[in-house]
Amino acid sequence: MNAAVPRQRVLIVDDEPANVHSLAEALGACYDLRFATDGTRALELAGSIAFDLILLDVVMPGMDGFAVLRALKAESATAPVPVIFVTSMGEVADEEQGFDAGAVDYITKPVSAPLVRARVRTHIELKRQRDQLERRALIDELTGIANRRHFDEALDRRWNHALRAQLPLLLVLVDVDHFKQFNDHYGHGAGDDCLKRIAGVLDREFCYCREAWRRTNCHACCMR
Ligand SMILES: [Mg+2]
Repeated sequence: MNAAVPRQRVLIVDDEPANVHSLAEALGACYDLRFATDGTRALELAGSIAFDLILLDVVMPGMDGFAVLRALKAESATAPVPVIFVTSMGEVADEEQGFDAGAVDYITKPVSAPLVRARVRTHIELKRQRDQLERRALIDELTGIANRRHFDEALDRRWNHALRAQLPLLLVLVDVDHFKQFNDHYGHGAGDDCLKRIAGVLDREFCYCREAWRRTNCHACCMR
């Protein structure tokens, strides 16, 4: 595997260290693995690291797998992460309950390493394709910056955050003067190039501003 390509992150959650070990042996060569042996720790990790997939035991002391899955689905940041239940509960009704709870797949113990690898690979690829489609739906095709839909969603989110936190909201409106004359004179191809360059300059400048805002802990609005 190319060392420059970051490996996908997989979280393994199981209260039995031996089960964690066997899943790690099956997947360690292909993925960046993290581990948790209880539901609380699993939620802490999932809240702070962007995982591509979670392998989740069902029967655990304290918070069981269904409760962990409900908590993951309740948070917008963790809701899209595919979860595969890995459990010894092999009845059809158990599997049905797992799918109803929002799991994408269900693997019964004892696990087969090739089967786990195949299912993990499939669901990570499906997530990658879904993420790509979602990104495309939010990006303007010509300029490559956020489109109107992304703008509306981000503004709504930031507006509500500013109201709740009683913080000011900054919105910059940029108009390109005399653009019709530019198109008429240089042609629409040159007009498109012009828009791309303007969008690129604004994107670069706002990237710099976003970093400055982060450094000063300012919660001003940014579009990404
Ligand atoms: Mg268990």
